[in-house]
Amino acid sequence: VDSQGRITQQTIHGTEFEDPGKLLNCLEGVSKSLMDDAAAAIGLGVAGRVDRATASLQWCGRLPLEGFDLAGYMASRLGLPVGIENDGGAAALAEHEFGAGRGAEDMILVAVGTGIGGGLILNNQLFRGSTGYAGELGHIVIDYDGPRCLEGCSGVGHLERMASGTSLDALVREAVRSNPEGDLARAVADGRDASGPLAVALARAGSTEAARLIKQLAESLAFGLVSLINLLNPEVIVIGGGVAEAGELLLAPVRTVVNREAIPAAAAAVRIVGAELGSTACLVGAGLIGLRAAGVLV
Ligand SMILES: [Zn+2]
Repeated sequence: VDSQGRITQQTIHGTEFEDPGKLLNCLEGVSKSLMDDAAAAIGLGVAGRVDRATASLQWCGRLPLEGFDLAGYMASRLGLPVGIENDGGAAALAEHEFGAGRGAEDMILVAVGTGIGGGLILNNQLFRGSTGYAGELGHIVIDYDGPRCLEGCSGVGHLERMASGTSLDALVREAVRSNPEGDLARAVADGRDASGPLAVALARAGSTEAARLIKQLAESLAFGLVSLINLLNPEVIVIGGGVAEAGELLLAPVRTVVNREAIPAAAAAVRIVGAELGSTACLVGAGLIGLRAAGVLV
C-alpha cells in the first residue's frame, strides 16, 4: 500500500490457526515475499485487540497469539517499523482517509460480516479508549433479555448476535424451513447454500422474500445505530462488510428506523452510506498504520 492508499501488490494466504509457530513463520515469509527496497514499514490489521499498555494481542478469537507482542516480534524479524491495529479500526481509518468517510470529523464504520466490527473516528482520530478496547460495536446491548452472544463472548442480546451475517444465515435457514415454495428454498433445492450471501444475491435479483429478510436484519442493526447516534452525534455512519452488498435494500430500512427512533437533530445530522473500499479497507488501513509508525504519514 502506498501513501495514497493504493494497493501496489497483493497476495492472499490462508491462516494457520492451529500452531503459533507456523502462523508466525507464514507471516514473516509472506511479508518478505512482498518487501522490496522501497518498503518503509509493516502494517498489521488483526482480528483482536491490541492492549495499549503491553502492545500484546488480546481477545483475538481463533488466532493462537493471545498475549503475544506481534508488532514487536515482526519488527525484530523484519527490521522495519511495524504498526498494528484491530482490523475494524484499520478499516475505519481507511474509509475515513480514502473512502466513504472522507472529510468527516466524526465517522463510525460498522462492518457487518460473520460478526460485527468497526471503528470510531472522533475528531479525525481513531478512538481506542483507555486501554485499546473501544469500538467493539458488535457487543453493544440491544436486548438485555436476548440470546447469548456469538462464540467467544458471554454477553446477552448483543448487536452481533441480532444483526450480523450469522444472524442473516439463521433467518435464511428459517425461511427455507418455513416456506418450502419460496425463492430461498427453491435456490437451496438447486444446490445453493442456505446462508446470508444467498439472501443478499436473491434480494438484489428482485426476490421480495429475500429483501424482507434483509429488511428484518436492517431493523435490528438500526437499533444499535440509534444508540451510537444518540451517544456520539456522528456526521457519517459507513456500513461495510459482506451484508452491505445488499446496498439500499439494507440502508433504506436502517435510515427509516434511525429517523423514527434517534434524537431528531442527531438523526438529521447523520448520513448513512455504504462503504467504498469493500474488502480491501482493512488492508489499506493496515498500510496507513504502518506508514504512520514509520513517520512517512502523520
Ligand atoms: Zn458479544
